[in-house]
Amino acid sequence: MALKTPAEYVDSLRDLNIRAYVNGERIESVADHPSIAPHINTVAKTYELAHDPEHRDVMTAESHLTGERIHRYTHIFHSADDLVKKIQMLRLLGQVTGTCFQRCVGLDALNALYAITYEIDEKEGTTYHRRFCDYLTGVQRADLMLAGAMTDPKGHRAKRPSQQDDPDQFVRVVERRDDGVVIRGAKLHNTGGINSHEVLVMPGTGLSDEESDYAVACAVPANADGVLFIFGRQSNDNRKLEGGCDIGNPRFGVVGGEAMVVFDDVFVPNERVFMNGEAKYAGTMVNYFATWHRANYGGCKGGNADVLIGATAKMTKVLGTERNSVVRDKLTEMIHMNETTYASAIGASAMGYALPCGAYMVDPMMANTVKQNITRNVYQIGRLSHDLAGGFLATMPGEQSFDNPEIARFVEKYHQANPEYQTRERVKLGRYIENMTSVTTMVEAMHGAGSPQAQRIVMLGQADIDKKIEMAEQVIDGDDDVEGLPLPGKRQPAEVEG
Ligand code: SF4
Repeated sequence: MALKTPAEYVDSLRDLNIRAYVNGERIESVADHPSIAPHINTVAKTYELAHDPEHRDVMTAESHLTGERIHRYTHIFHSADDLVKKIQMLRLLGQVTGTCFQRCVGLDALNALYAITYEIDEKEGTTYHRRFCDYLTGVQRADLMLAGAMTDPKGHRAKRPSQQDDPDQFVRVVERRDDGVVIRGAKLHNTGGINSHEVLVMPGTGLSDEESDYAVACAVPANADGVLFIFGRQSNDNRKLEGGCDIGNPRFGVVGGEAMVVFDDVFVPNERVFMNGEAKYAGTMVNYFATWHRANYGGCKGGNADVLIGATAKMTKVLGTERNSVVRDKLTEMIHMNETTYASAIGASAMGYALPCGAYMVDPMMANTVKQNITRNVYQIGRLSHDLAGGFLATMPGEQSFDNPEIARFVEKYHQANPEYQTRERVKLGRYIENMTSVTTMVEAMHGAGSPQAQRIVMLGQADIDKKIEMAEQVIDGDDDVEGLPLPGKRQPAEVEG
């Protein structure tokens, strides 16, 4: 069964009986908890659209391992076309859900593991790649939801993993056995982990040879002994439980349902271990993963911004300002910023190149530029949305005010704008804009896939400044013009006397 249905995905989560905590309490079933439901519902859309003939080309692919039709979320990129289709899939899902649909982290982790296992085997004579391909075949056939886990707690930021007072601040191997390894530590900000089938653990940073215990990559079932998830809080999460017009994004999450995943001495059998001590490859693996994931943001945030632009444009109709030329110009600016990041993501994909294993990498300069622009444009788009929607975003009364006969008529009367729209409609739209421009969504755009400085380091490294200096010198002082052309501003050679 290569393509799960949404119902099969939800049932399979129930069967897992994952150990998870919400608001400090152990919950019975992640699939039946209202705080997690919006995130499960979002992922369910990724399963649903893969069955839609209209989206088959974008949502599915042919497995290079089995030749079977599989979900694109379990596919290894083998061409620039694959990379472009991934970005198109992300924009589509962003438009349909208006939020983070979580599966991209696992997808990029699969590709990073595919590439790095090949490279380790080539140089070290190990057999990780064959082992990983066997694992991947199982993932594709079962259409698993995978969470990628990279960010360690990191403890004292000025200290390396091996220098920490508490060595568990980075996930590490605490015991090596003949049949596998035991890992300990935690990963933070884990997108979709709490509603995943498996977690792909990767090193979170480059490592030195003395830090080989931290060089571990493996696949851990979400219900393995010693694994537990502690769910994070998000803006407005309790409002979702209330219903009515105060919710924001009623059916889907605000961001990716992030959780802390703890590995409390978890045994991982050899067939699920894809890096075990090869410290010098950790940095490359982090780099592969981050580069792929940074390009994604031009797709998913593009789709999310489409929805936000739509909500803002509708708000201008509710307010009666939609024909004002300044309003139209601001909407145009939102569109411009959104399409700029999308175009860079498509460009990074179209300019992709083959890695030694045959998997396709996006253009690193453009991928990092996409993410850098996201850390600005998402804020700017939100700023313009606030500008157009007005101050009522911050002061509008809640749902209960409409139900209290003592104040309801005042709330209605003084929030009425264009009479074609009801006041509650205005509140509902306002709550959506509030939701999608909240601290949670902004911070996710800022720090997801790496903080801004991480991209700037890559951009400067990739830019080849010396080459640019050479270009400038050649343009300013170069002498490769056609001989004899009387170029303006160019001194003709002085005649030699004598
Ligand atoms: Fe995918 Fe975007 Fe969510 Fe990352 S932030 S997992 S790229 S939807």
